Amino acid sequence: MKMSRREMLGRSSLLVGALGVGIPAPGALAQDDGRKLKVVVAGAHPDDPETGCGGTIARYTGLGHEVTILYLTRGEAGIPGKTHAEAARIRTAEAEKACAILKAKPLFAGQIDGDSFVNNARYAEFRKLLDAEQPDIVFTQWPVDSHRDHRATSLLTYDAWLNGGKQFDLYYYEVDAGEQTQNFHPTSYVDIDATLEIKRDACFAHQSQLPATTFWPLHSKMQEFRGIECGVKNAEAFIAEAQNRELGAPVKA
Ligand SMILES: [Zn+2]
Repeated sequence: MKMSRREMLGRSSLLVGALGVGIPAPGALAQDDGRKLKVVVAGAHPDDPETGCGGTIARYTGLGHEVTILYLTRGEAGIPGKTHAEAARIRTAEAEKACAILKAKPLFAGQIDGDSFVNNARYAEFRKLLDAEQPDIVFTQWPVDSHRDHRATSLLTYDAWLNGGKQFDLYYYEVDAGEQTQNFHPTSYVDIDATLEIKRDACFAHQSQLPATTFWPLHSKMQEFRGIECGVKNAEAFIAEAQNRELGAPVKA
């Protein structure tokens, strides 16, 4: 069963490439015996997956594919004046609201904001979570980033891909470019014009992070700039792992 699924996905992605229509094999995959792509988006904190690839997530779910957002932490350290427990409760609720808007499933990896660990036990734990999702495609944060938790998320995901036998296609996304993500030179783009409002609503579900004055103005510029790069109005940009099989992931805006 696994083989035939891979083969089918492979054939579908060739079709997409030939048509040049972008993600993620519109029509073809959704109609293949009801088979759907399984996508996981890993992020350190509530709001990272939404800001980095909320428009792409909405495109996948809009086509009927399944997306799980895997949050490394619950943003425990992210609200000044609140205890970890209070902030975790508020930010978990915000993440769940954002996921509902994006039609994604939230999942929490249980690490603590600002105190994430990368060691053998954490590698094993994270890989177990990812394996249980049986993803075809995984998006994660780029490892060159000013935030330690972002770097941890990236390394944990990469290790799961590498030591799990490279069973899924891997893409990196950017957040707060220049301030957090650094040295990011995209290989792939996704046109998010059609899902921009959904992305905005998901980002604004994180009210405790004051999106109107913090991440949204910068991400608006990033989306426009990435759009200019690839010839559309607004886009999200990614770096593809060179050994990907392109099972239906973003190939071009
Ligand atoms: Zn973050």
